[in-house]
Amino acid sequence: MTDSVLRLAVDDRGEPEIFHSIQGEGASLGAPRVFIRLSGCNLHCKWCDTAYTWNFNGTPFEHEDQIKFDRAEEMLTQTIDAVVSRVAPLNPSGIVLTGGEPLQQQAKLPALIDAIKSECGPVWTEIETNGSIRPTDELIARVNQFNVSPKLAHSGNDLKIAQRADVLARFAELPASWFKFVIENEQDLAEVTTLVRTYRIPADRVFLMPLGRDPETIRARSKWLSDICVKMGYRFTDRLHIHLFGDTRGT
Ligand code: SF4
Repeated sequence: MTDSVLRLAVDDRGEPEIFHSIQGEGASLGAPRVFIRLSGCNLHCKWCDTAYTWNFNGTPFEHEDQIKFDRAEEMLTQTIDAVVSRVAPLNPSGIVLTGGEPLQQQAKLPALIDAIKSECGPVWTEIETNGSIRPTDELIARVNQFNVSPKLAHSGNDLKIAQRADVLARFAELPASWFKFVIENEQDLAEVTTLVRTYRIPADRVFLMPLGRDPETIRARSKWLSDICVKMGYRFTDRLHIHLFGDTRGT
């Protein structure tokens, strides 16, 4: 029995955004996963496709959509037991804790992961993070894969907050970490190169992903970006869920 409470995002039906789909990006692309979307983020990317997890009425944050969300409608609390009771019937082989920024709630995540494994068996456990909050050893011990996506200057974030040296160094030394950089144009590559060199990230642990929230935009950036991956030894990742489902919640 775990009474700890988590803040979750809400799907189109007003339910906690917990859903079974395939991983659309990165090292596990194509793998079936149960996603648990936590609400709240410490960063505020101007092109974020989950701005309903943080861009609430009354906040000063800017977003290209110029839409504010009602916190009371978009964020709900659930006990760990309640989350597990939604996850277990989906019989997951793997889970993805995503957001928002899940590490804002990392003190509660070990208990959540333990409770899911206790109910469902040894599920593969991934966390999607922006790489700006240092993970605890307690959390690291329970996670198979960190999908770390440090934010570049074009995100509009204060880079002193988005690119914290001690945090990036910690993620870079973890064998479970894969790095994914969202690329808008070729000028972003210099920033990626600097980060990769500074933190000695192996090139084959680096994904470049086209910025885009619709298939046309993604496709337009994919050709030149894949050419750059070939040249630099990085991996390319698509955004498969956008091609399959569009920019929608619960997918
Ligand atoms: S870090 Fe991720 S969830 Fe947070 S604002 Fe940026 S894209 Fe959105």
